[in-house]
Amino acid sequence: MTQCRSCGFGTLDDVLTLGETPLANSLVAADRLDTVEARFPLDVVFCPQCALVQLTISVPPEEMFTEYAYFSSFADTVTENARVLVERLVRERHLAAGHLAMEIASNDGYLLKNYVAAGIDALGIDPARNIARVAIDNGVPTRCDFFGRDLARQLAAEGLLADVLHANNVMAHVPDVNGVVAGIATVLAPGGVAVIETPYVREMVERLEFDTIYHEHLFYYSLSSFDALLRRNGLRAVDVERIPIHGGTLRIFAAEEGTPVSDATTSLLAEEAQLGMTTIDYYRDFVARVDTLCDQLRDFLLGLRRDGKRIAAYGAAAKGATLLNRIGVDATTIDYVADRNVHKQGLYMPGVHIPIVAPEQLLTDLPDYVLLLAWNFADEVMAQQHEYRERGGKFIVPVPEPAIR
Ligand SMILES: [Zn+2]
Repeated sequence: MTQCRSCGFGTLDDVLTLGETPLANSLVAADRLDTVEARFPLDVVFCPQCALVQLTISVPPEEMFTEYAYFSSFADTVTENARVLVERLVRERHLAAGHLAMEIASNDGYLLKNYVAAGIDALGIDPARNIARVAIDNGVPTRCDFFGRDLARQLAAEGLLADVLHANNVMAHVPDVNGVVAGIATVLAPGGVAVIETPYVREMVERLEFDTIYHEHLFYYSLSSFDALLRRNGLRAVDVERIPIHGGTLRIFAAEEGTPVSDATTSLLAEEAQLGMTTIDYYRDFVARVDTLCDQLRDFLLGLRRDGKRIAAYGAAAKGATLLNRIGVDATTIDYVADRNVHKQGLYMPGVHIPIVAPEQLLTDLPDYVLLLAWNFADEVMAQQHEYRERGGKFIVPVPEPAIR
């Protein structure tokens, strides 16, 4: 890539280079452990014109595994947050029968089912056929398709305009961000609102969440870079909230130009400018801080192992793969990774080839320490694993610095 995918600017500044890395979601089957895994550059750059942080390459979608795709309902926190948000929007925006709620990348219908329950029409859009089928079986009308300019025009031509449109963890993943935002502008009903959640790059930098960097995660937004993207496509950020999901997320409310802009939006844009987030300066010491963290964590784990401690990990998600590959510990240090997702159990983590097992093994096996790779669900995982902790087990939370809980 030579140009910013948002604004087209041609000279991008380096932020962080993780090098040739296996795809974080490409879990390895036992009979493939001897086969060389495909590796792709994992390098992060900054656009000095629109302030967007992004990867240098996008791996072709056909290279990405989708079989073990993340089912939202596997995470209790996510479904509960969705329920609370929908209740609030229905109340605040006086949504009722005859209104339409839409979601891009609607997954198994975890969010839209709350609108259906409230008697409001819903339409999900998700390209994964197996997941769209689950949503439909759950009573959430869903189209199996990619959202962009073309589908948006088609929906609008059918009279399907959204009074509220959700896009959660979409904008970080799709290469054609202008196509998606232009599509959102096309399908929003007059006076409608798009509620867009995406991880906040500021949290990644401040809390050293470098493991949120993986190939499927192309973009790392600030409000400044997101507002520039919206404005280019006839929308603008009219309100914003910072929410704790996924290690720190921006919830941006976007609407047509001319809609009043909240004080929260104006002040967060000013705060970002003051912090230097619209220049490369903000990112200059990120590499050194990530290196220090990784050295600390590696030394700590290897030290425990030397002392004869047994170490497991929890959460076979993409961020775990980034972290394990970056610190370079394999099955000689970490015995296994526990994960609730039955589709992942029996497979191996990419690159480091640590086996994935059911969480029940933590209780039968009682390792001394569990490295919490899914730190974004720390409270939820620790509540589920209370028995392991009561029996003396300890969790290691890796970021922003290794801590025992
Ligand atoms: Zn740009």
